[in-house]
Order: sequence, then structure tokens, then C-alpha cells
Amino acid sequence: MTTSAEKRAETIRPEARRALLAWYDDNARTLAWRIGPSDRSGSGPDPYRVWLSEVMLQQTTTGHAAPYFERFTTRWPTVTALAAAEDAELMGAWAGLGYYARARNLLACARAVAGEHRGVFPDTEVGLRALPGVGAYTAAAVAAIAFDRPANVVDGNVERVMARLFAVETPLPRGKPELTRLAGRMVGEDRPGDWAQALMDLGATVCRPRQPLCGVCPVADWCEGRASGRPEQFPVKAPKVKKPRRRGIAWVMLDREGRVALAQRPNKGLLGGMAGLPTSDWGDAPAETPPTEGDWLEAGSIDHVFTHFALTLEVRAARGIVERGASNQWADVETAIAILPTVFCKALARGLAALDEG
Ligand code: SF4
Repeated sequence: MTTSAEKRAETIRPEARRALLAWYDDNARTLAWRIGPSDRSGSGPDPYRVWLSEVMLQQTTTGHAAPYFERFTTRWPTVTALAAAEDAELMGAWAGLGYYARARNLLACARAVAGEHRGVFPDTEVGLRALPGVGAYTAAAVAAIAFDRPANVVDGNVERVMARLFAVETPLPRGKPELTRLAGRMVGEDRPGDWAQALMDLGATVCRPRQPLCGVCPVADWCEGRASGRPEQFPVKAPKVKKPRRRGIAWVMLDREGRVALAQRPNKGLLGGMAGLPTSDWGDAPAETPPTEGDWLEAGSIDHVFTHFALTLEVRAARGIVERGASNQWADVETAIAILPTVFCKALARGLAALDEG
């Protein structure tokens, strides 16, 4: 059944598309991974760079992703080069981007492209979706941006624009399918890659989460959210459910040379395969059992929020550890900070500060 909003999308589509694409021609953001509308002289976008940027951008903002993108493409300029990276090397380079399962999937996908597709990305949504770790969003984004396929690319920015353009009252996340259908009605055969990027740019720079700039918006004439006088109320959000809290203890141990003990996380599960600090289990009542004998100092605690729970880590710190423990690796503090995920960097900083004060 076609809803009234979908019928409206069909009606406004030709003019709204023309207006947004014209706006994109003049206002496209300059991004390291993008071939913008003013730079069509050379070859098209490199699917490897598009794919890598899209995976990174699912974790973070363009500003935070940009230096990671530069480092990755300097170190691994092609998908074949990335496929040859050591797991630990890639995990280290990914540290700070979060959601480490994505880093493992990144490597699995690069190896599949290098091994099964001779280093060439499939050029359709279906072909891309068959690669390990490539979800519906990434497949659509790469198909549209790298191969100019009329794919429906819907990220948070696009959802917000659709929710406002059509004043969608269904709260998120329940409203997602409706927003995806509306975005699909607006896709066309003409410049699909630019259309996808134009919508993303509109959401990022004009139709911002707070204080949208409706006065300069190229689709303002057709926007029901704007007409309502309160565009910020869209997308409507369901009330937040409080995340459960887990507790744990992290052990910051320095040896006599000032090196810090690291413990490899198990491959499966949260932060799988990453370097970590030795910790207790994370639950309601963690066991206070130090990994080795030492003059342990109570160093306070840090908080960190994961997707499904919040974590409080009590930090214990000791220096001059002699009994080093067979399962630990040791690294100087700078190296540890470079490779540890954020939660452990926070705990390490807390432990080191307490040792300095103590
Ligand atoms: Fe967003 Fe305002 Fe443009 Fe509507 S008119 S799409 S609310 S910026």
C-alpha cells in the first residue's frame, strides 16, 4: 500500500531532486575520499577508498575519521595491500575508532576481495552485500558512490532529512522502515552517486540535528517539517531506555623499566582481538584478585559507555612489578596508549596519575 507521504514523494521528486543536485554542485563538502562534482576530469571514485571511508564513518564523524583514513590509505593504498596486513597491525591502526568487530570484518572483506575477486570490488549492491561484514547500508553506499548505481543509501542524516521533509510522526527506531521507503521514492537514475552524497551533505551541514538552516535549504519549498514551524521535533524519538551498568577492576601494572602490562582480549566478544589491560570479569560484583603480587594503589575509577551497557572500571595501579605473569605482554606507555582502545586508555591514564600522585 502506498502511503500519502509516499505519493507526495513521487509528486515533489523531480523538482526537489533538481534543486538538491544543483545545490550539491555548488556546496559539496571536500572530503579526502570523495571525487566532488567539480572534479570529474579524471577517473571515477576508487571503490576501495569509498568502502573504507563508509566503514569508518559508521563509527564516527568525518572530522575524526579523516586522519585515520589518511593513515590507512598511506599505509595500505589498495585493498590488496590491506588484505596482506597482519591482524594485530590492523587492530592497532583501528584503535580509537571503536566497534572493533568492524576492524575484523574490514580485514575479512579485504581478504575476500583480494582472494576471490582478484582485488576488484563487485560493482552491484547484491555482489557487495555478499562480501563478509558488508551490511545493507555499506553495500548501498558503495554501489551508489563508487559505481553510480541507483541504490537507496539511508544513514542517520538521510533519516533526519526524510523525517522532516515529510513530517513523519512515527518515532524512531520504529519509523526507520517508513523513512527508508520514503528515501527510496526519491532515488532516481540520474546521478545516483551524487544524489546519495547530496542528501548526506544536506543532513550534515544544513538540516542539522539542532537548529536546521531552513533559510538556505534547497528543498525548503517542499518541506513539511519547516512548514510545521518546529522542524527540530523530527525525527520523533522514543523515550530512552537506561543502559544497564556493569562493574569491573582494571590493573595498571608497571615493571621496573616503567613498561605497562597488556593482556590480549579474547578474539570473540567485546573489543575482541584487541590489546587491553588485565581486568576482572565485568558484572555486578567483580572479584578483587590482583593478577600478581604488588603494592597496589586504589586509583579511583573511570566510566565508559558501550552500545549495550555502561561500565565502571575501578582502577588499581602498582609499579616495580617483579613477577611479570606469563600471559602478559609489556609495552612502553606511549605504545600502549597508541594501541589500546579508549576505555583502557582512560583506565591507564587514571592509574598513571595515581602512581604519580602517590
Ligand atoms: Fe531540513 Fe529545514 Fe531543509 Fe526541511 S527546510 S529539509 S527542516 S533544513
